[in-house]
Amino acid sequence: MKRTRIIDVLNSSKVGDKLVVKGWVRAFRSNRFVQLNDGSTIKNLQAVVDFEQIDSELLKRITTASSVSLSGTLVESQGAGQAVELQVESLEILGDANPDDVQKTVMQPKKHSLDFLREQAHLRFRTNTFGAVFRIRHGVSFAIHKFFNDRGFFNLHTPILTGSDAEGAGEMFHVTNFDLGNIPKNEAGEVDFEQDFFGKQVNLTVSGQLEAELGALALGQVYTFGPTFRAENSNTSRHLAEFWMVEPEVAFNDLEDNMNLTEDFLKYICRYILDNFKDDLQFLNDRDAEEQKSKPEAERNALSLIERLEFVVNNNFERITYTRAIEILRNSKPYKKKKFKYPVEWGTDLQSEHERFLVEKEFNKPVIITDYPAAFKAFYMRQNDDGKTVAAMDVLFPGIGEIVGGSQREERMDILLEKCKAFNIPEDHIWWYLETRKFGTVPHAGFGLGFERMVMFVTGMSNIRDVIPFPRTPQNAEF
Ligand code: ATP
Ligand code: MN
Repeated sequence: MKRTRIIDVLNSSKVGDKLVVKGWVRAFRSNRFVQLNDGSTIKNLQAVVDFEQIDSELLKRITTASSVSLSGTLVESQGAGQAVELQVESLEILGDANPDDVQKTVMQPKKHSLDFLREQAHLRFRTNTFGAVFRIRHGVSFAIHKFFNDRGFFNLHTPILTGSDAEGAGEMFHVTNFDLGNIPKNEAGEVDFEQDFFGKQVNLTVSGQLEAELGALALGQVYTFGPTFRAENSNTSRHLAEFWMVEPEVAFNDLEDNMNLTEDFLKYICRYILDNFKDDLQFLNDRDAEEQKSKPEAERNALSLIERLEFVVNNNFERITYTRAIEILRNSKPYKKKKFKYPVEWGTDLQSEHERFLVEKEFNKPVIITDYPAAFKAFYMRQNDDGKTVAAMDVLFPGIGEIVGGSQREERMDILLEKCKAFNIPEDHIWWYLETRKFGTVPHAGFGLGFERMVMFVTGMSNIRDVIPFPRTPQNAEF
């Protein structure tokens, strides 16, 4: 008989149905009640074995983490906690799990620290928390593709190996097939990249944006969704060395259109998860509520996870300019009481303490900050008429900080060339990018969403390492 997934058993099977289910045992109580999970849902199926009918040697092998195939009839459950259960008629052990060994793992059914769970990233999928997180991660990914597809965007695969170093200099991982013990040098004693695989220095991409722009300037609206790499040595709860980025790019859009698109997009994702992942979300909501309790009063979130998502869906994001943000900060209590570590002055970048104040204290909702000083934003951002600021936007989320960075792009060749000079970007490195401004240039805009930061927001997980299956961070690439 064909296997029925537990989610389908719970949603659509009827009392009296003959079924085969397969999965991993989460618990086995009283030599009688098996809690079976097959990953299709956070819910377990209760299966009841009649120990008088089943061989006792076989019963002994039903242990936590073992895998089994159970055949039987779906009946109304006598006990509380579930409407139906499977009355087992025959069972097969698919894979044993030694209880002494299971004791040492995160599969032992009790509360484990997230640190311990990270050490067993290969097994943490088996826990309720990580099952929920990774089902929802899939949901966010699917919602992203659906959002863009429904709006006529084309998904563009931009390269992971890139010869362009216009962005993120110093933060890039180099890619080579040189024998690292014997790297060829030229006469000047420098590494001779001409002898390397690509005949030039190549890195792992930090963003697909420049290439996405090329696509948008022909296909109209495109988005990338791929891995990006940053060798930044920042061991924070919001940075990974390998993370996924979503980068839409739209011809004919200005900054205002860009903000509207971002806001619609982020709201859509929250709505999608609220509507389609109720069980997982409820579990994470309760988990988050427990975690909030253990925090000091001042750091606690007044809203539950589900309320936070609904809040995003139902409220407009606050939109302010950088200049206004500086004003607000300079008039704030923590500024006057000298509580900020970093200076607040027009012309210096906002630090996370400032962003947190604006998002969590001043506005208490997502905030879009626009029109930053040109000096600390990328060369491709469009210069405003004031000559000092650029049409940039950062979207800040409560509890997360920056979740999106974007801008209207500089479409005017003369200004773009000046910017390249000012930023020391040799024209011959990005000649191909500059050429789009030569042949029918148009205003256009786009942004980058850090995928894992969005998954953090919708799952309520507070460390980015807990929303990607196998996190890569400084000194850590075990799995
Ligand atoms: P931050 O100031 O948080 O380091 P950034 O300004 O370097 O961010 P961008 O270069 O604008 O970020 O990248 C676009 C988005 O990618 C960010 O808004 C963020 O959501 C995400 N992001 C950036 N760096 C990382 C990282 N190391 N790990 C995970 N996500 C990241
Ligand atoms: Mn950064």
